[in-house]
Amino acid sequence: MKVTVVCEHNRAMDSEEGKKAYPEGMNECIAGIFSEKNEVTLLRSDDQGVHGLTDEILEGTEVLVWWGHMHHGAVDSGLVEKIANRVQRGMGMIFLHSAHDSKPFKRLLGSSCSLVWREDGEFERLWCVNPTHPIARGLQTIDIPQEEMYGEPFDIPTPDELVYIGWFEGGEVFRGGCVFLRGRGKIFYFNPGHETYPTYKLPDVRRVLQQACEYVAPQGEILEKICCPHRPEPSYKR
Ligand code: ZN
Repeated sequence: MKVTVVCEHNRAMDSEEGKKAYPEGMNECIAGIFSEKNEVTLLRSDDQGVHGLTDEILEGTEVLVWWGHMHHGAVDSGLVEKIANRVQRGMGMIFLHSAHDSKPFKRLLGSSCSLVWREDGEFERLWCVNPTHPIARGLQTIDIPQEEMYGEPFDIPTPDELVYIGWFEGGEVFRGGCVFLRGRGKIFYFNPGHETYPTYKLPDVRRVLQQACEYVAPQGEILEKICCPHRPEPSYKR
């Protein structure tokens, strides 16, 4: 499967905490989650926008993974439309952590996607609320030793499939593992992954994201257009 990872590079990653969490770079760590079973293209975004996500690469992508935080505004709106269009035609997409505030996520969900947050490095336990869901196979709970708190209210449409609810030691809860269906495409949102904590190195986090990648992958061909103009003859006539 062809997986494209778009990961922002920002100043927090260059800080002491950021370098300690990911000496090799968080982008490489995220790409490595998917590279065992897939052909991965790793692209960077920054205050100049997304680099290298050409029409050719996007049209060859079966699952697009997105991590962004400080530079959402630099992402070209025309590119956002192309991404949303491809999801509706069947491409899978995974949004990680602060990508809840990214343009493609808000475009696909149609709401503000705002939430409450506290950057305190606290313990999070994700509880599976949908134990037969393929994304949660073998992962009833996922423990994150240190994470940024994301809490409700999370302004999203009711998820088509709610897989995990996160609980934080400060007391908040959050719909941290959600599936949304848009057209022929599946979207998974997963809340852990602040850039100064080594969350993407945790085996359970890597496993849940690998299972999510399999789940959102297109089941059939990705359509060339959102609407197929061909209307077959009725199969039943009175
Ligand atoms: Zn964060």
